[in-house]
Amino acid sequence: MEADWSFEGGRPCLDLVNTLRDRLFGGRELLTDTGALADWLLAAGLLGNRPRVRAAELLAARELREAIDRLLTTPRPSNADTRLLNDTAAGTELLPPRLHRRPDGTLRRETPRPREPVRTALAAVAADAIELATSEIRVRICAGEDCALRFVDSSPKRNRQWCSMARCGNRAKARAHYQRHRQ
Ligand SMILES: [Zn+2]
Repeated sequence: MEADWSFEGGRPCLDLVNTLRDRLFGGRELLTDTGALADWLLAAGLLGNRPRVRAAELLAARELREAIDRLLTTPRPSNADTRLLNDTAAGTELLPPRLHRRPDGTLRRETPRPREPVRTALAAVAADAIELATSEIRVRICAGEDCALRFVDSSPKRNRQWCSMARCGNRAKARAHYQRHRQ
């Protein structure tokens, strides 16, 4: 089955939030199992290799996702959510790249691999959410009537309404067109 990922949130933290689809109708889980989270982390470009995901990491990813959503879409986020974001962001093992100089003078870059790649990837998502939550950028919710995907609007006129034209924009346009012609 082709995964129904959406990477149109404009931020990694919103792309994670959007892995719970149909939020207006109780939610449809796309991170259905550890394999789905492994696929998502790879497709999101957060890891270069498909990781082996533990069950606890899947639960952590879902908890992080909902904390991020509350943090970004409710006026007064809870202490528990801010703590969860901070703790997750602190889990990074990301080390700076190292330069190696070969005897012939050419250079090679070595990027240390984290021993806990999933934890490190989730830390990057949490850090992204912290940055977004404290920025001037507002998170918007798709105007598609049954959609509710989250995104940041970086269009030149700041008038983006849809998560994507393909998913919701064209449908809304078709509906408006139909209604105009029925009258
Ligand atoms: Zn939408």
